[in-house]
Amino acid sequence: MPAAGKNGKDSLTARQVGTIEFCVLAEISPLDGAPLGTWPSAGPREAEAAMARAREAFPSWAMRTVSDRAKLFGELAHLIVRELDAVVDAIVRSTGKGQVEALSSDVLATLDILHYYRKQAAAILAPQRRASSTIHLGTSFEVEWSPLGVVAVIAPWNLPFQLALVPAASALVAGNAVLLKPSERTPSIGALIGDLVRRAGFPEGVLQVVQGGGDTGRALIEARPDKVFFTGSTASGRKVMAAAAANLVPVELELGGKDPALVFADADFDRAVAGIAYGAFANTGQVCLSIERAYVERAIHDRFLEAVAELAAGLRVGPGPDTDLGPLILDRQREIVDAHLADALGKGATPVRPISREQGLYHPVVLRNATHAMKVMTEETFGPILPVMAFADEDEAVRLANDSAYGLGASVWTADLGRGRRVASRLCCGSVTVNDVLKTSGNPDAPFGGERSSGFGRYHGPEGLWAFSRQKTVAVTAGRLGREPNWFPHTPQLYQTTRTLVQTLYAGEGAFKKGARIAGSLFDELRRRLKKRR
Ligand code: NAD
Repeated sequence: MPAAGKNGKDSLTARQVGTIEFCVLAEISPLDGAPLGTWPSAGPREAEAAMARAREAFPSWAMRTVSDRAKLFGELAHLIVRELDAVVDAIVRSTGKGQVEALSSDVLATLDILHYYRKQAAAILAPQRRASSTIHLGTSFEVEWSPLGVVAVIAPWNLPFQLALVPAASALVAGNAVLLKPSERTPSIGALIGDLVRRAGFPEGVLQVVQGGGDTGRALIEARPDKVFFTGSTASGRKVMAAAAANLVPVELELGGKDPALVFADADFDRAVAGIAYGAFANTGQVCLSIERAYVERAIHDRFLEAVAELAAGLRVGPGPDTDLGPLILDRQREIVDAHLADALGKGATPVRPISREQGLYHPVVLRNATHAMKVMTEETFGPILPVMAFADEDEAVRLANDSAYGLGASVWTADLGRGRRVASRLCCGSVTVNDVLKTSGNPDAPFGGERSSGFGRYHGPEGLWAFSRQKTVAVTAGRLGREPNWFPHTPQLYQTTRTLVQTLYAGEGAFKKGARIAGSLFDELRRRLKKRR
């Protein structure tokens, strides 16, 4: 059992009472060490019980219309806005990040998506007509979506409000019941979400917050939900997928990243410097889409390094609320950042400004002479370090950016938007921004997710709601013919007719339209013959 961390965020503790072992989550604010509460940590029995309650709540929730469910998202959004300062304060106290960061990244992004579902979910989840093919003349095709059942949402600590509530809301509006396991580092935010959802009027049992660490997450997966939506590290994602495979539970994995920024010499220099500093250091680099490596065209490389280091040196570092960079709140995370930095310095990287570290606080570090032999360029650092490399031309920039195990996001900085789009298309990742950063996860209508070791699956947008739904194709034939032309008996005449149809349809360019007309008349002819035989 892990002991409580120095800063209170490695917070799973155990105590013995008789022969029974209770695990308790104790959360302490990284701002001032104030206790934020304790929560019992759920084991397999509690996970099974929560699953049973969710299965009970599911049918009546699923029976409601999407519009009816979506109305509650309006209520939830109003409640969050009415209690905005308290919600922001809770996030600041739990994570130590600044107020602006908490409001814009965690709360605003969540409100945007609640509003989107309120307006769009019913249209997105309405049955869709699909085209028929020639062989299916007379049959109409529709795709319909229905809820999966119970979805387990397992969330991380870095954006504890958005990354728990957005997938939970996506699953809920699609008609599922949700078991939400917040991070063991930020249980108070999980509890806050549960409370807000209850007070917004959602029926009992449709969203339950199940507190605990990795073992609790595993117990939830073993309770056989209909889907697991996991956001967290690549290492945990592998374990989640292995556990889910035992019962063939589908998983969606939103994992770590190593996002590159590609800066071309024609870019608006000041914007690129400001944007890349923000992308690298926002939330103290603890964002999945953080810029973790920059490639800069040789002509501006030295000037860029100086300018970004200068900007970084002026950022305010300290616990929130009025700060640019909060602390690195996990001991484990600080150790990774230290190790990556030591590895880079040992292999020839040099900091552009002297490195400054205090207890729990990391001032941003900009590194020159970075290479792909360094962990800081290949493994997720999740801290305020920006290693920089020079490139000669577009091909080299793309090759370096794609030379990674990860594939979450990337950014391209150039005044030539044609080049921006072209380079974006060549990058192996789930999303790319041109002359901007960290934007792709915030648009409720644009699908978000990763490639390679950054995971798979998409949420947000129509794709994000369909991901939480069963998809069914329904083909309806009025059935006025006694039987279809290709049904038995299979005669030589039927073979010849079908052969003519195939040849006419697929004889070459432009033949299809003509073929479709002929298919229509053949179909009419067959229909006449069949009628005569009846
Ligand atoms: P983590 O993997 O340590 O934990 C994430 C969640 O998984 C927690 O709730 C944890 O209790 C749970 N968990 C851990 N082991 C588990 C297991 N074996 N079975 C089930 N659940 C388990 O990650 P973290 O430190 O909380 O978050 C930081 C990581 O998340 C970074 O790698 C970051 O890049 C990634 N992240 C990705 C995205 C994205 O959208 N791709 C967004 C935010 C964070």
